[in-house]
Amino acid sequence: MEKKAELYKGKAKSVYTTDEDDKLILHFRNDTSMNDGERIEQLERKGMVNNKFNAFIMGKLEAAGVETHQIQLLGDDESLVKKLDMIPIECVVRNIASGSLVRRLGVPDGMDLNPPTFEFFLKNDDLHDPMINDYHIRTFGWASDEEVAQMKALTFKVNEVLKRLFADAGMLLVDYKLEFGRYQGRVILGDEFSPDGCRLWDADTRNKLDKDRFRQGLGGVVEAYEEVAHRLGVKLD
Ligand code: 5GP
Repeated sequence: MEKKAELYKGKAKSVYTTDEDDKLILHFRNDTSMNDGERIEQLERKGMVNNKFNAFIMGKLEAAGVETHQIQLLGDDESLVKKLDMIPIECVVRNIASGSLVRRLGVPDGMDLNPPTFEFFLKNDDLHDPMINDYHIRTFGWASDEEVAQMKALTFKVNEVLKRLFADAGMLLVDYKLEFGRYQGRVILGDEFSPDGCRLWDADTRNKLDKDRFRQGLGGVVEAYEEVAHRLGVKLD
């Protein structure tokens, strides 16, 4: 597989075309950003950990019947994926209140959410990823009603699979963000699932094991990601 031109550079990943039109290479960088790229730091090993962690999670999701773009790991910090027509929307499921939900609604941090709640955000850094609803998606034509229904169903299906996976390894899946794209007429999971885009707490101590360690200046960011990987049995070296 030949890596060709850089197609897109995100805040933590770069996307490259390949010699096959329907495949892309994702390069997971060590860059770690917050506030829509306002603060960026290099965290040694993070690209490698997230690439391998993501491949592991995507494999678990595929095994549970959630179609993903992941094809295979290509090296320490690169993966081969199917090229999707990305839908510019972030899908968030929350099992426990934290982050922007707490700021917006004034509910207690750490409150169990029963049933879990769901939110859509528009992927737009300039607008700080504003929250949107099904009607905005329909009015502005970002996705069809059927695609909206599929994104919700798939995001909740991922919740069933991953809540159990993390619980079995002594962790609480607090919330997470997913992105989907179109592939041969189907809506399938794209982007990544890593501690950069979810909240994970130790089930006993509720210690944070995710990107909130960076956002809140707690330190030990990559160490926490490696701890999560180790608990799940993800092979890193
Ligand atoms: P919140 O809305 O509380 O900031 O985020 C909810 C969940 O979605 C968190 O797990 C957070 O990491 C993830 N998330 C929301 N927006 C983004 C984003 O733009 N990038 C990444 N990597 N994760 C996000």
